[in-house]
Amino acid sequence: MSVLPAIDFHCHSHFSDGALSPMELLELAKARDVQQLAITDHDTVGAYALPLHASAASAGITLVTGCEISCQWQRRSIHVVGLNLDLASSDFGRAMTIQAQAREDRAEKITEVLQRLGFDVALPQVQALAGLGVVGRPHFAQHLVATGQIPSMTMAFKRVLGSGKPGDIKANWPTLETAVGWITDAGGIAVVAHPMKYNMTLTKLRALLSDFVAAGGQGLEVLTGYQDAQRINALADLAHRFDLYASAGSDFHQPGQPWAELGRVAALPDRCVPVWTLWS
Ligand code: AMP
Ligand code: ZN
Ligand code: FE
Ligand code: FE
Repeated sequence: MSVLPAIDFHCHSHFSDGALSPMELLELAKARDVQQLAITDHDTVGAYALPLHASAASAGITLVTGCEISCQWQRRSIHVVGLNLDLASSDFGRAMTIQAQAREDRAEKITEVLQRLGFDVALPQVQALAGLGVVGRPHFAQHLVATGQIPSMTMAFKRVLGSGKPGDIKANWPTLETAVGWITDAGGIAVVAHPMKYNMTLTKLRALLSDFVAAGGQGLEVLTGYQDAQRINALADLAHRFDLYASAGSDFHQPGQPWAELGRVAALPDRCVPVWTLWS
């Protein structure tokens, strides 16, 4: 197992559906001795508009720019993390504008679907829960739970918002090829996020990776949040087979979720080539 360095290349701030501000994320990362951190909000790089790099440097943390882009492949939602992006790229700025619009349109559609199902929901209520952040399905779930219409976030996803449910609207997302293109055009490394979360068969996952590599994708999240050794090994094998750099991230959203704690990432298996070797 390789030990160096302590990294976390997947987490969320309040610019998407995370609970903490980017500065709070940095403080937590420092407290956990994270040496390299990427904040990867859903479809926004709002966190990086702040003077974060100077704060990170004084905390001794290498801040790697990042974003988790929603896209679709074979009618499934796929998340692609872009790392080490040049945020000054005007094309990437345009991509973020497209994603912001897609999220707004999607939020309207989700509102309509939930209303049709008989739920009491208005878009401004959900936008208020998102605060500074872009609206996502967790904000709809939060609203349904807060108003007593569904008992828990888990149930909200299970019944109406999760994969394959009526509130899981993905028509607005760009194709996998487009998302990967946005990232590589901005000089970044495209990484398939949490590969086991899509509940695909191994054959399907291989087909995804094959298309991903053809589009210019270069990385795979071999470590994401808590995963057992068997899954880590299976993903290390896939990274090896498709010649992909291995990335690792907690997918931290908020404190108190032990399966996704900031900086709590296992060591990569030795046969993996870590993605950070590309820049450090
Ligand atoms: P969205 O960006 O709107 O598609 O929402 C995706 C986010 O929803 C993920 O990053 C998770 O934070 C959250 N999420 C997805 N599935 C579930 C689930 N089953 N239970 C709780 N949260 C979930
Ligand atoms: Zn999220
Ligand atoms: Fe994700
Ligand atoms: Fe995420």
